[in-house]
Amino acid sequence: MSKSSKIWLSSPHMGGNELNFIQEAFDTNWIAPLGPNVNGFESDIQAYLKTKKSIAALSSGTAAIHLALVQLGVKNGDEVICQSFTFCGSVNPIIYQGAKPILVDSEPQTWNICPIALEEAIEDRIKRGKRPKAIIAVHLYGMPYQVEAIHHIADKYKIPIIEDAAEALGSTYNNQACGTFGEFGVLSFNGNKIITTSGGGALVCENQTVKDKTVFYATQARENAPHYEHTHIGFNYRMSNIVAGIGRGQIQVLDKHIGMRRAMHSFYKSIFKDVDAINVFEDKRDNIFSNHWLSAITIKKDANFTPEDLRLALLEDQIESRPLWKPMHMQPVFKDLPFYGQSTAEDLFERGLCLPSGSNLTDHEKNRISIKINEFLKYYGLI
Ligand SMILES: *Cc1c(COP(=O)(O)O)cnc(C)c1O
Repeated sequence: MSKSSKIWLSSPHMGGNELNFIQEAFDTNWIAPLGPNVNGFESDIQAYLKTKKSIAALSSGTAAIHLALVQLGVKNGDEVICQSFTFCGSVNPIIYQGAKPILVDSEPQTWNICPIALEEAIEDRIKRGKRPKAIIAVHLYGMPYQVEAIHHIADKYKIPIIEDAAEALGSTYNNQACGTFGEFGVLSFNGNKIITTSGGGALVCENQTVKDKTVFYATQARENAPHYEHTHIGFNYRMSNIVAGIGRGQIQVLDKHIGMRRAMHSFYKSIFKDVDAINVFEDKRDNIFSNHWLSAITIKKDANFTPEDLRLALLEDQIESRPLWKPMHMQPVFKDLPFYGQSTAEDLFERGLCLPSGSNLTDHEKNRISIKINEFLKYYGLI
């Protein structure tokens, strides 16, 4: 058997201009967590999001969530609501602040935080004596959550929303960019995201004052003095000027890459169109646009195969696929936290699979994926 190269779930895809921005940083000796690329990348993001809000470029999406919590005054003993069906980066910063995550189930349409379970959680926590300090809502896999319903509840109880748009750069709801709806918005440029700076993130802030405060906390909370003067505890969370150079190049190709991710989604829809047992995750609301960061499928409960069977079959031909996010309330490290809702997230985890979705997959690679999947479907008598 000939050895084929690995097809990854989602791998970095450079546009071409990244090195020019890095070269410029070297030529001008801006090799620091500040400089023209950092400022440039921040205004690029702001323009891309078509927002008046201010952007602070940071070392990661997780750092962005952490600084949002810090600025919302989340402290030891506080409670913060978070969507359970997500990556641990959404939840861990709550723990960094000594606060307690209250986990909430998803709804089946968008796979994101369920309005009914959210309200139940808020009511119950208030009844027990603690008003949640913030809600972390996630646009998972680039799919916008039910913005109107969720923000309506948050307004009703006067709880700020931290909008985790780490996977949703380029997605919109009512033609407004995901990441611009919450009190704070979070973006990530980690290696597997829709664009990458190798590692990085950003916090979308209400205005310039909040951005300045964010940068203050991200640079060790240094006061304005010739010596190092500190009245607050800070963090080393600022994005470097080298990394921001990659970002400047990446944002030039973002729309093109979103087009290619969406083409991958159509590719899977056509592969599975006659397969009853498999559903390609999509949302037919007409007021949303998903970047389709990852294409995901779910397999019917009574199917004669499991997601794991398909994952292993793909792996035989060096094709990477991955189960959906394992909900936080099912994680050993979080098993004792309060959880509100039913079994939607759990059920998705058991029945779902993410398929290779990169914007850089070649026709040859798509062909390999399609052949392997068809082989699998025939073997199980599904086509
Ligand atoms: C990637 C991701 C994060 C964290 O971003 P990092 O830049 O990796 O720290 C947070 N939330 C979600 C939903 C993510 O996918």
